[in-house]
Amino acid sequence: MVGRRVRSRRKWRRVLGVLAELEERCATPVGKLKQVVDAMAVEMHAGLASEGGSKLKMLLTFVDRLPSGSEKGTYYALDVGGTNFRILRVQLGGQRSSILEPHVEQQAVPAHVMTSTSENLFDLIASALKEFVDRGEDGSKTLVSRRGELGFTFSFPVKQRSVSSGILIKCTKGLHIEDMVSQVRREVTECLEQAMSRKRLNMRVAVLVNDTVGTLALGHYHDEDTVAAVIFGTGTNACYWERTDAIIKCQGLLTTFGGMVINMEWGNFWSSHFPSTSYDTDLDSHSSSPNDQGFEKMISGMYLGEAVRRVLLRMSRESDIFGTVPSRLSVPFIFSLTGLMNATEFHGIPLFNFRIPMISAMHEDDSPELIEVARILEDDLEIPDVPLKVRKLIVKLCNVVTRRAARLAAAGIVGILKKIGRDGSGGITGGRTRSDVKMRRTVVAIEGSLYTSYTMFREYLHEALWEILGEDIAPHVILKVIEDGPGIGAALLAATYSKDSVCG
Ligand code: ADP
Ligand code: MG
Repeated sequence: MVGRRVRSRRKWRRVLGVLAELEERCATPVGKLKQVVDAMAVEMHAGLASEGGSKLKMLLTFVDRLPSGSEKGTYYALDVGGTNFRILRVQLGGQRSSILEPHVEQQAVPAHVMTSTSENLFDLIASALKEFVDRGEDGSKTLVSRRGELGFTFSFPVKQRSVSSGILIKCTKGLHIEDMVSQVRREVTECLEQAMSRKRLNMRVAVLVNDTVGTLALGHYHDEDTVAAVIFGTGTNACYWERTDAIIKCQGLLTTFGGMVINMEWGNFWSSHFPSTSYDTDLDSHSSSPNDQGFEKMISGMYLGEAVRRVLLRMSRESDIFGTVPSRLSVPFIFSLTGLMNATEFHGIPLFNFRIPMISAMHEDDSPELIEVARILEDDLEIPDVPLKVRKLIVKLCNVVTRRAARLAAAGIVGILKKIGRDGSGGITGGRTRSDVKMRRTVVAIEGSLYTSYTMFREYLHEALWEILGEDIAPHVILKVIEDGPGIGAALLAATYSKDSVCG
């Protein structure tokens, strides 16, 4: 009896040791964050200097003007690129403020379609689009006589050939369409346009963008100080407005207003300064994209819970916190599931429970007895009767992983600001101090429900932003949530580019 208690205490100490070690390895003091900021700015330069010069691809978007506010007419947008796809119709009245009550429809892409053929994927999307258009606003078939203009948001890494065409570089975020990344790559817009013509839908892709670019377009439409856009959702990415002369790898690039939106594909950023752990290494090597998307794997919604699961699995193997090792803890990505996915089950687990990803539901349980944590453990993970001290430990674990993610995300944002001289450090010459520097108001558009729905993530991000920038500069940097940015922004860009789509 006594022996068992001693053994049990020893095992508990081991569990605490696992957590303490994790906390230490995941530490992100402001000095480290500043190293990440510098690394981001350096990699951005390198990615702009030459093709393949950095893990940051710094892709040209050919978006060289942003919506002016005078756009008029009805435009459609299609937002594909994560858990769900969305179809929108936007009526533009010609005055900046007169936007925008879009008609929106959302559907999940079934998991088996995400990993089938381009024809299956685009037929599904084109069918939904056709139904949406046919239903019309008031039942009238607006597109019978006139060709519809579509802004197509396709949020995977695309090498653009023009503002309306490009090829998929690689699959990310659970998409795996072999014929789009094989030797003879299919052009993305062509895939959609062919599917639309199979469905007899009279519509043309006016722009092919990603969610970041759409968000920047809408953010800038509302507020001209918007210089960058960042997505925190299933995946993560950023884009920003860059001066043409800084895009060294593309000599002789002609742009309308002396700049172009650059799609950073920052999910692939990596720095030796990252507070990486053995769990991250394992997560990476077991993922479908080893050695790739390192920043995304530390930050984005798809991976946060998976890191937590891996630590918890190790704890439960090294101790008796859950008795025998619970089988559901061995299910990859179980902590990242949400009920919005179209599947009704995942490895035999009913998905309706997962409205909110487990990591945030547990992390944000503010009941003294951690009732929600107990419920999730019992109902969703089939681990009953977990003592309070273990439940507290789990909340701490979620906190460590999310805090690291949010703080690294903040460093990424400041990296962009540094690159474009908006972090307050650029103008310091001749002995002037930081506080003398006249800071321009700088707005960063943000989209994605990891940021909008996970309060702790958002708060940790803001806190780190202040720590890095300091109180003189931070008030000039505004993070603004741009709802429906990927969709409405793409419709706005479709309007902007509706007459002359070929560019570059
Ligand atoms: P997508 O990135 O698929 O376009 P969203 O921006 O809505 O869509 O992001 C969805 C992802 O954000 C989910 O897969 C999940 O990882 C994360 N997420 C959504 N809500 C929450 C939440 N409350 N807490 C933590 N993560 C969340
Ligand atoms: Mg999205």
